[in-house]
Amino acid sequence: MDSPNTSSSSSTPPASAQKTATEESPAFRKWLRKAAFATGVGLTPEERQQSAEEQKYRMCETWKRELLNYSPSVVFMLKHLRLSGCAVPPENIVCAPCDAAAGRAGGFHPAGAIVLCQGGFGGKRHMEDTLTHELVHMYDHCAFKVDWADLRHHACSEIRANSLSGDCRFFRELGRGFVAFSKQHQTCVRRRAVLSVRANPNCPDEAAAERAVNEVWESCFADTRPFDEIY
Ligand SMILES: [Zn+2]
Repeated sequence: MDSPNTSSSSSTPPASAQKTATEESPAFRKWLRKAAFATGVGLTPEERQQSAEEQKYRMCETWKRELLNYSPSVVFMLKHLRLSGCAVPPENIVCAPCDAAAGRAGGFHPAGAIVLCQGGFGGKRHMEDTLTHELVHMYDHCAFKVDWADLRHHACSEIRANSLSGDCRFFRELGRGFVAFSKQHQTCVRRRAVLSVRANPNCPDEAAAERAVNEVWESCFADTRPFDEIY
């Protein structure tokens, strides 16, 4: 029984004992399996990948549930979508794996669904900003009949979504009592809006994206609906 391998180890039971326990007890086998998924030890690369995605999914769902109930900006947008006749049920906000190479955190489908890219968030605050951003797009789609193929329409909604979500720290500014937007905020909104319009399949180049953003900037940046109803 006492092989040189196992007798020197104090932290793990001898291999023979492990084998016996595993074979005899289904509960132990189940526990061992669970431990393997938690630690990644003893899994095939495919299983390890799946386990990592499941953990990301669970984390995303937990944050989502908390944000839907407690985030001031998310709750506010959901309320105004409901008032506009476009209620968004929680099951239409979906956690899913996204193409990591695209570097996206979320997306909006005009059919009435939002995708949150599980694993695409630096933290719950980032997810809150992303969800608020996508809800602004959804509000625009509901209230203003946006043609997403039209670069100026798209630019307008991106300006609003980036300005009104926490993407460029709108809420932090509000919390400090600032009503006027800082220059930095405007630069951030403009840069992010151009990036998003550039990704529109109908956008030929960077210059076209910048042009679309510039053309609608004044009116769309000033349009803070539904947030202006706070005051
Ligand atoms: Zn956007």
